This record gives sequence, C-alpha cells and structure tokens, in this order.
Amino acid sequence: MSVQRAPHSDVPVCVLGLGLIGGSILRALGRAGRPAYGWNRSAAAADDASAAGFDASADLGATLRRADAGGHVIVVAVPVPALDGVLAAVAEHAPNAWLTDAVSVKGDVARRVAAAGLTGRYAGGHPMAGTAFSGWEATDAALFDGATWVVTADDDTPAEAWRLAASVGLDCGAVIVPAGAAEHDAAVARISHSVHVVAEAVAVTAELDPAAERLARSLAASSFRDVTRVAGTAPSLVNAMCEANAAALLDALDDTIAELVAARAELAEHGTVGRITEQGHAARTRYDNARRTPFIPVLDGAGWQRALREAGHAGGVVAALG
Ligand code: NAD
Repeated sequence: MSVQRAPHSDVPVCVLGLGLIGGSILRALGRAGRPAYGWNRSAAAADDASAAGFDASADLGATLRRADAGGHVIVVAVPVPALDGVLAAVAEHAPNAWLTDAVSVKGDVARRVAAAGLTGRYAGGHPMAGTAFSGWEATDAALFDGATWVVTADDDTPAEAWRLAASVGLDCGAVIVPAGAAEHDAAVARISHSVHVVAEAVAVTAELDPAAERLARSLAASSFRDVTRVAGTAPSLVNAMCEANAAALLDALDDTIAELVAARAELAEHGTVGRITEQGHAARTRYDNARRTPFIPVLDGAGWQRALREAGHAGGVVAALG
C-alpha cells in the first residue's frame, strides 16, 4: 500500500502553459496534494484541464494577479519563442510571486528573466523527462517519477526561489540536481540537444539510398526506433531549444562529427570500427553504473550556491529539503 506523503511546500504553484510539460506538472502536483492552478493561451486546453478537474484558466492577467497576491510560485512551461511575452506579463502582473521554469535551456532563459527584471525572484528549472508528444492530451501525472530535475544555483540565485523551485520538482516525483546555468547548457548540449540532431540525421540517412529506401523502412526495427525516437518530437520545439543553446551545441556537434570521421577512417583504412565500439560501450556502461548520492541542501551562508553546484557535479541529488 503506498502512503501519501505531505508536499515539500504548501506554497501554491501557478503553471503557465498546460502542454506536455506544464500540464504534467499540474497533474503531478495534484497527485501530491500540492495546491496548484494553471493558465493556457488557448481556451480549448484550459477547458480540457478544467473538465479533468483541474483549476485552469485562459485569462493570463487574472491568473498572474492571483499568484502575485498570494506570493505563489510560478512555473513557466512554454517554448523559448513565447518566453519574452510571458515574462513581460509576469513582471507587470506578478512582481511579488516567485519564479521558475521548465525550459530545456537555462542560460538563455536567465538572460530573458534578467531583461524582464525578475532575477531577484527566480531559480531556473529543467525536468529531464519528456516524450515526443505535445499538448494537454499528452499529459501524465507520472511523467517525472524518478527523473532528475535541474534547479539552477548561480551566484545570484535567491535561496527562497531555489527552495520553492526544488519543492515543485520534488512534489512532481523527481529528484533535484543543482547546477549552474552555463554548465547545465554545456551538459544538455551533449546528452539531449546533439542527440536530437543526430536522431534527425539517422532518420534522414535511412532514406538516402534510393535503391534501398523502401526496404530500409520495412526492415527498420528496435535499434532504428531507439536511436530515432526523439525525431518524433515537433520540429518547432527542437528548433527552439537547439537554437537557444547554439554555442554549446556547436561544440558538442564538432565532437560528434570528429568521432564519426575517425570511425569512418578506421573502417576505410583498417577494416574495423573497434575503437569507437570499445569506447562507446565503456561510456554507456559508466552511465548505466552511475550512482546518485542523496544530500540535504544548505541554503544559507556565503557561497551556498557554489556548494550546491559542487555537490551536483559529484553526483549529488536532493530528494528532500530537510
Ligand atoms: P507543448 O507543445 O506540449 O506545450 C507548449 C505549451 O506552450 C502549450 O501550453 C502552449 O499553449 C504554450 N505556448 C506555445 N506558444 C505560446 C505562445 N506564443 N504564448 C503562450 N503560450 C504558448 O510543449 P512542451 O513539451 O510542454 O514544452 C514546454 C517547455 O518545456 C519548452 O520550453 C520545452 O523546452 C520544455 N521541455 C520539454 C521537454 C519535452 O520532452 N517535451 C522536456 C523538458 C522540458
């Protein structure tokens, strides 16, 4: 029998954007007993969420004034191109609310948050979970169960904003990994954004031999499906996150291309792909064997943000706020 535990905070959560990620956050918070409500630009999705028993509205100003009056925590869960408009509305209607987000890049978002004058209330967030589907109809209360959820700890991150952002991730069933925005972006360029580009390239490559195109499609099985799964994501979402992390993604793609060129040269000159298969297998095994070390975050004293970043680097995860 599972025991319902108390939420990690009782501060209500205001979710902006009820697509796959924001809608799943609203569902997961409801499951955890955390007070939460949401806004969606299209009335249809807000109506669907209301019909499913959630507190949802298509009136952004009214939703934000509610968050402002109560000092609630806002989670922005819209794509990068929609951020500036949403953040301007937050600055106008909810300057007293706390702020986090679920966007897949962190440096770009932090700069937009600063331009809106909201850094003093903000800690960035990124749930490391998702599917290739979009919209309220794809939402799932269990999407974040056991996932990692980055909460940014930069030198200007306010402790209360970090604590509330972490509480949202914890109440969604995730564990928290603290990281700086720039180091987050460098890491996700290699484990997510370049993976999307490589998946698109593999999907395209399968069709490039006209003589074998139809046969290749009918033979494609688990390895093709696994490697190209993320190519099923809406192109506009992939474009938005890759283009907002261009510098780190260029570095990652340079390394991927160098690996492919070296593997091709080894095959052409020596008839083997042995080097990359050994190294790739070893890297994948290290990932499979990686261990997480739970720790309780200390959110005061000089340099607490640096201490959190170091703990995140060392494999530390936050499973409770103490
Ligand atoms: P989605 O398409 O399912 O939902 C997008 C949401 O943003 C919808 O509520 C939509 O109404 C809203 N929106 C779109 N354009 C808007 C605009 N101009 N103004 C106001 N609202 C607008 O997408 P999603 O997968 O939920 O992605 C939302 C965010 O979560 C993105 O920033 C994405 O980077 C991030 N994210 C996605 C995944 C994933 O796997 N899909 C994982 C982690 C984080």
